[in-house]
Amino acid sequence: MQKFSEFKFISTYNIAAGVREKIISNEPEEYISDFFEPRYQEQQYLKPSKTTLLHDYIEQEFSLGIEYMTKHLAYEESIEELVFYLDNYRVPYLSYAEFLSEHNYYTDAEPDEFQYEYSLFLEKLVIQKISPFISDEVFSILFRDRKLLMEFNKLLAETVVKIKFVDFPKLLAKDGFVIRCSYWPEWVRRALMYRDQGSCAICLNDISGLLKVNFDKAIDHIVPLKLGGTNDITNLQILCEACNLKKLDHTIQTSEMYSRYF
Ligand SMILES: [Zn+2]
Repeated sequence: MQKFSEFKFISTYNIAAGVREKIISNEPEEYISDFFEPRYQEQQYLKPSKTTLLHDYIEQEFSLGIEYMTKHLAYEESIEELVFYLDNYRVPYLSYAEFLSEHNYYTDAEPDEFQYEYSLFLEKLVIQKISPFISDEVFSILFRDRKLLMEFNKLLAETVVKIKFVDFPKLLAKDGFVIRCSYWPEWVRRALMYRDQGSCAICLNDISGLLKVNFDKAIDHIVPLKLGGTNDITNLQILCEACNLKKLDHTIQTSEMYSRYF
């Protein structure tokens, strides 16, 4: 697995703000509940995957944004935008002239006659090739934001609590209750420790092991499984023993505290 990525930051902050707004405003549109369709995401619900549910959600938001843009902007403008993405991410694409000859369109066609087809061609390329990069970049910004992760998982829980055991026997322990992941991979522990800077996510006590030796810590589900939480890493945090005992499995809790750089 690659350890470093080159950030392009093309619209990354805009998209991050849009995704955040949609989740925090808690007014899920119809497609949000369609998105949380466990039939396709059963494995991600059951154990942490490096492509998280939030990655999928960001990718979907980005694709919908691109589709909306090509539908509503003049062809020329949307082509300009799409080409901007492709150039920045160094994705090769056919020029308009190459596109015309490749598709055997009439060479004596009006210059802009096939711009619609061309914009659809570019749109598909941007969605296929660029959305994975965008979702990684946006994820790396939003993953720091535990309040947002909590709201995201609360939305998800609205779907999970309605799922029936008879329909998903491999996913659920009982109605609306996802089976607890029995083993947390090392990359999950490391990522959480790194994100939360070695501190308990609620009281900020040091749990890194650098300052204190005798302490207990636990990986906690922000939205408990009992309340429709999943085992996706976006729903996990590390707590000190005291906070973990207090929270148990019946409260949805995190904090927005972080350590300052200076
Ligand atoms: Zn604590």
